[in-house]
Amino acid sequence: MIIIRVALNTPVDCLFDYIAPDATQQDIGLRVRVPFGKKLMTGIIMGVGSDTPVLPEKLKPVEYIFREIPPLPSQLLDLFRFCSDYYHHPLGMVVMNGLPSKLRDRKLTQPKKTVGDFLYRLTDTGKQVDTSSIPSRNSVQRHLLAQLRIPGAMSGKDAKQISSRAMKILKEFIVQGWVEEIPALPTNATETPIIPTLTDEQEIAVNAVTAEIGKFNTWLLHGVTGSGKTEVYLRIIAHVLSQGLQTLVLIPEINLTPQLEAIFRARFPDIPLVSLHSGLNDTERVTGWLQAQSGDAKIILGTRLAVFTPLPHLGLVVVDEEQDNSFKQQEGLRYSARDIAIFRARQTNVPVILGSATPSLESYQNAINCRYRSLRLLSRAIKNATLPTINCIDTRTAKISEGLSEPLSKALENCLNQKQQSLVFINRRGFAPVLLCKSCAWTANCHRCASRLVVHLREKKLRCHHCGHLENFPRACPKCGDQDITPFGHGTQRIEDKLAERFPDARILRVDRDSIRRKDAWQVILRTIQKQEVDILVGTQLLAKGHDFPNLSLVGILNPDISLYSTDFRASERLFIQLMQVAGRAGRAGIAGNVLIQTEFPDHPLYHALKRHDYDSLAQTLLAERKVAGFPPFVYQALLRAQAHHIDTALEFLSNAAAVAQPPGNIEIFDPVPAQMSRLKGLERAHLLVQSHSRKRLQTFLTEWHKKLKAFPTRKIRWVLDIDPLEF
Ligand code: ADP
Ligand code: ZN
Ligand code: ZN
Repeated sequence: MIIIRVALNTPVDCLFDYIAPDATQQDIGLRVRVPFGKKLMTGIIMGVGSDTPVLPEKLKPVEYIFREIPPLPSQLLDLFRFCSDYYHHPLGMVVMNGLPSKLRDRKLTQPKKTVGDFLYRLTDTGKQVDTSSIPSRNSVQRHLLAQLRIPGAMSGKDAKQISSRAMKILKEFIVQGWVEEIPALPTNATETPIIPTLTDEQEIAVNAVTAEIGKFNTWLLHGVTGSGKTEVYLRIIAHVLSQGLQTLVLIPEINLTPQLEAIFRARFPDIPLVSLHSGLNDTERVTGWLQAQSGDAKIILGTRLAVFTPLPHLGLVVVDEEQDNSFKQQEGLRYSARDIAIFRARQTNVPVILGSATPSLESYQNAINCRYRSLRLLSRAIKNATLPTINCIDTRTAKISEGLSEPLSKALENCLNQKQQSLVFINRRGFAPVLLCKSCAWTANCHRCASRLVVHLREKKLRCHHCGHLENFPRACPKCGDQDITPFGHGTQRIEDKLAERFPDARILRVDRDSIRRKDAWQVILRTIQKQEVDILVGTQLLAKGHDFPNLSLVGILNPDISLYSTDFRASERLFIQLMQVAGRAGRAGIAGNVLIQTEFPDHPLYHALKRHDYDSLAQTLLAERKVAGFPPFVYQALLRAQAHHIDTALEFLSNAAAVAQPPGNIEIFDPVPAQMSRLKGLERAHLLVQSHSRKRLQTFLTEWHKKLKAFPTRKIRWVLDIDPLEF
C-alpha cells in the first residue's frame, strides 16, 4: 500500500496520511486535494512511503494529485521543516503560509497567461526547419516561421497581428519543439543607465564577495546613507547573473519596491525580474512565483514573504535594510525573514549580503565576533556629497509655537528661499495628537485596546491606530462635562496646518499612512517630490527609509525624546537607527544637508553620537549596556504570549506554564507580566519571557516545554511562542 504524508493548513501539528496507489517519490512536493473531516482540503505531499501509524480502516484515499505544476523543490520543503522546528509552529501551517494564496485553494492548476506575458522564439531545431517543406496552403505557418527568424523574440501581440490563429499555431510549434516560450522581458527600460565607476570602498566590497561567490558567508555591508550600497548589490548580481544563477533581494517596505525595481530593470534590461510583495493581486503573485520556481526569473525582488519562494538556481541573497523590524512577521508564524534568508543561503551554500547604514545590534555584534564578514563604506558615493551636519535645538530655551521652534522655522524659510526641499519628520510612535480635557485630564481611549485614540482633525474623528476603531468627537468631556476639550500633541495634520499658516506660498505635502492608502498614491508622491513640485514634506517613518531625494537639503525632527526613556530596551537603538535614516535623506547629491533636532535633552549621548554620525560608538555603548543587563544579542529569547478576555486568565495560564517548565540551569524563566500594549482588540495580553545564553539549549528546552503546553486545556485562552521577539 502506498501512503502519502500531507501537510495541511491546520493547527494540529502533524502530517496526515492518505492512500495514494499511484504516488511515487517524484510526487513529493506536489499539491494534493484530500478529504479532511467533512470537507476537502489542499495540501502538499511531504513524503511517500508504505507504512503508517494510522489504522487501515481509518485511512482515506487521496482525492486528486495536482501534477500540472511541478513539485516544490526538496530544499524548500527542508526550509519549511526548519522553520516549523525553530519557530515551533505547525508544519502544515508553515508550508501553506509560504505559498501564494492561489496555490492554497483548489481551483488553480496553471494560472491563465495573458498575451504579452510571454515571448516566443525559435529553438535550435526550429531554426533548422525548412520553410519550403511546409505546404503552401499553410500560409500562416510559413509566415510565422519567417517572422520568427527575425532576430529577437516575438510577443503574443505580434503573433496575433499576423493571424487570429497564430497563438494556436505557436502552441503547435512548441509541441513540435520548434519554438520556445520565454517570460516577457520587461519593457520599461527605456534609458540606458550610466554605470558609475566604483569608489575604492565599493570596489573592495564587490571584489570581496565575488571572490567567494560559490560559498556560504554572511556579509554585513555596513555603509553610511548614500554610500552606494545598491551599486554594490548590482555589481555582485551582475556577476551572479553571468553564471546563470538567481538572486533573491529582500527589502522591508513594499513602498520601496517600485524604486528599486526600476533601478534593477534599467541595469538589467534583458533579465527576467519578478517582484513579489503584498501589493500584487493573487494572479500576479502566483505568476511571479512560478517564474521563480521554473528558474526563468533571475532576479526576485520582494518583501519578507518572498523568502519562501522556490529558487532552483539560487546564487545570492541580498537583504537590504537588514535592521528593519518589518522583516519580522508579528502574527501567525512569527518568523524573521532576515534570519530565514541566512538559513537559506547556508542551505544552498551561497553568500548572503545584509546591507544597512545602521545594522541591528545583533548583526553588528556578529560582525565583531567574526561570525559575519564585515564590509564598510565610510563615505558617500557621489563626489562632494558629504554627510549632513546635525544640530540640536534645545526646546527648553527656544521659542516654540504649536510644536515648531523658531530656529527650525527660520531654517525652513531659508530653504524655501533657496528653492530647496525640506522634510519635517514626526516620530509617529507616541506622538500622535490625542484628545484631552484640560479641566479633569480625561483622555479619549480606545475601549478595545489599552491605547489612546488619535485625533484626525479633518474628518473630525477619533481613530485607534491599533485596531482601527473609529468614533466621533465628543461634544464635551464625558467625565466632567467641560466643553473645552482640545487635541494635545502634534500629529502630521496639525503640523501641516501650522506650516501652511507660516509659509502660505510653500507647497506642502503630508506623507503618512493615511495619505498613502490609495494603491498608486505612493508613486504619485515620489514623482511629485522628484519633479520638485513640493517644497516642504511632512511625514512619518514612511519617509525615512531608503528613498533618494536629490534636492532635499533640510530635515527637521520634532520631539524624538519619548523613545529615550522607554521601557523597551530596544527603543534607543530604534530611535538612533531612525534618526540616522531620516538624517540620511538630506544632502545626498551635491547640496549640503542640514538636520535640526528639537529636543529637551541635547546632551544625551545618543544625540552626541548622532551629531558625529558615529554609529559605532553608540552601538558599542548600547552593546555594553545590553551585556551588563543580559539582553540580546548576549542572550537568546523566546516569549510565551497569551491572550484572554480577562487578564487573570492569561496570567494564570502563564503561571501554570512556568510551573510545568522544569527548566534546566542554563534557562532563565521570568515572571508572567502584562504586555506593554496590555489590551489589544478587546483582549487582555500578557507574556512570559524565557532566555538562555545558548540558542541550542533554548531550542531543546522549548521543544520539550511546547509539548507540555499543547496538552493544556485551550478554553478561554490563546497562546503562541514568539522566538527572538522584537516587541514586548
Ligand atoms: P545607499 O543605499 O548606500 O544609501 P544609494 O545606493 O542609494 O546609497 O546611492 C546613493 C547615490 O549614489 C545614488 O544616487 C547612486 O546612483 C549614487 N552612486 C552610487 N555609486 C556611485 C559611484 N560609484 N559613483 C557615483 N555615484 C554613485
Ligand atoms: Zn473633563
Ligand atoms: Zn483599539
